[in-house]
Amino acid sequence: ESPPPTAYRVVLLGASGVGKTAFASIFAGAADSMDSDECELCGDEVFEKEVEVDGEAATVTLIDTWDSELDDDSVQDCPMQSGDAYLLLYSITDRASFLRASELRITLRQFRPAEQTPIILVGNKCDLVRRREVSSSEGRACAAVFDCKFIETSTAMQHNVWEAFHGIVRQLRLRRDSK
Ligand code: GDP
Repeated sequence: ESPPPTAYRVVLLGASGVGKTAFASIFAGAADSMDSDECELCGDEVFEKEVEVDGEAATVTLIDTWDSELDDDSVQDCPMQSGDAYLLLYSITDRASFLRASELRITLRQFRPAEQTPIILVGNKCDLVRRREVSSSEGRACAAVFDCKFIETSTAMQHNVWEAFHGIVRQLRLRRDSK
């Protein structure tokens, strides 16, 4: 008999318009639509589903946040504190969103000091090559500074989106297994 799957809370962070909703839709798309639910308290969308990564099941609860609430100090129990792991999104076509990702990374570090919280910096919209404002090497360098993984994705092309979800589960397991 296999052990029950581990449940993880993964939070999507990033400026408005970077593709968080599109990311969540791909995640939820393969799920039973009855599993998706609105968390009215936070104004967030919450999706839960079981995913298989490297032959092992994991239950992932995905939380899609609204950027504006993240600066609100009164929302203490909301996304910045409640995640086991974070997908920090920006759009490669929007330098401001790249800078916003850096700000959010710093805020996250304040909320989770000393913890090895898995984070992946995600450069989305990589299909929009001619509108690119942030190079891959800049993204990679930023991730290195922030001590997190890096991936470029396109929700429009369904490119690397599941790789990002699987990558975060792998990091969570590494952390679990090293405890
Ligand atoms: P959110 O505000 O972060 O939730 O962003 P949305 O998911 O609502 O996406 C904002 C806009 O960008 C929408 O019009 C999406 O269709 C578009 N978009 C999201 N991801 C991609 C992508 O990978 N490529 C392209 N070309 N457009 C995208």
